[in-house]
Amino acid sequence: TSDATELVITDLTVRYGPVTALDSVSMTVAPGAVTAVLGANGAGKTTLLRTISGLLEPESGRIELAGVDVVGVSPDRMSRKGLAHVPEGRGVIAELTVEENLRLGALGRNRSHDAVTLDRIYEMFPPLDSRRSSSAHTLSGGERQMLVIGRALMATPSVLLLDEPSLGLAPKVVAQIFDILRTLVDAESMTVVLVEQNARSALSIAEHAVVLDLGKVAVEGPADTLAEDDTLRHAYLGF
Ligand code: ATP
Repeated sequence: TSDATELVITDLTVRYGPVTALDSVSMTVAPGAVTAVLGANGAGKTTLLRTISGLLEPESGRIELAGVDVVGVSPDRMSRKGLAHVPEGRGVIAELTVEENLRLGALGRNRSHDAVTLDRIYEMFPPLDSRRSSSAHTLSGGERQMLVIGRALMATPSVLLLDEPSLGLAPKVVAQIFDILRTLVDAESMTVVLVEQNARSALSIAEHAVVLDLGKVAVEGPADTLAEDDTLRHAYLGF
């Protein structure tokens, strides 16, 4: 919709010393929709997210957030511009409660905003609601994934980057989390970049998809078209 944020990536090249992780990658992440970024191990998916959020500096290329080039902008300033990044690994502070972990996502915001946002997150993720005062270390993998997504949402981002949220979770839990994401995107017209190796699940909630292969865009298009293309599924998506 009109007030959702577009992300446009043009000719992005990122190297780790001699290793080219992204080789002149271009893609448009449509506002208010889910774009799945798929591809095998080492394709460059994590590098893409880390570069968008300012953790890595590209060698060349442009990253435009709502029409403004943000290459060189620090991760902290990117988050103030409305970008949230949920990295792989579900890092929570184990000794803190669910609610304390959530509040960390809104540091620096005013408290009335926090209360409204917290309520919304508990509504979206019922398992977190019933565990507000539990230490984070008691959560299951799926609950932890909900917690890190919820923590990112505490900053009320306009663009959400998710790195492999389904990794290691049971199919039923993946479906639950992806359903919540879909509802969220529809309700708040958030722009989502969903990095996944679980291509089948990711394509089921995405509007658009990009397949990276060895740091280059191999295929892109509407998610349903990619999901129905047998040749492509066998070549790149493993299902
Ligand atoms: P995965 O699913 O395994 O995380 P990926 O698609 O996210 O894979 P990246 O992690 O972005 O891929 O890696 C892209 C390429 O960059 C790979 O060849 C990888 O070995 C290399 N690479 C990633 N991080 C580093 C690093 N810190 N130093 C050197 N090379 C790296």
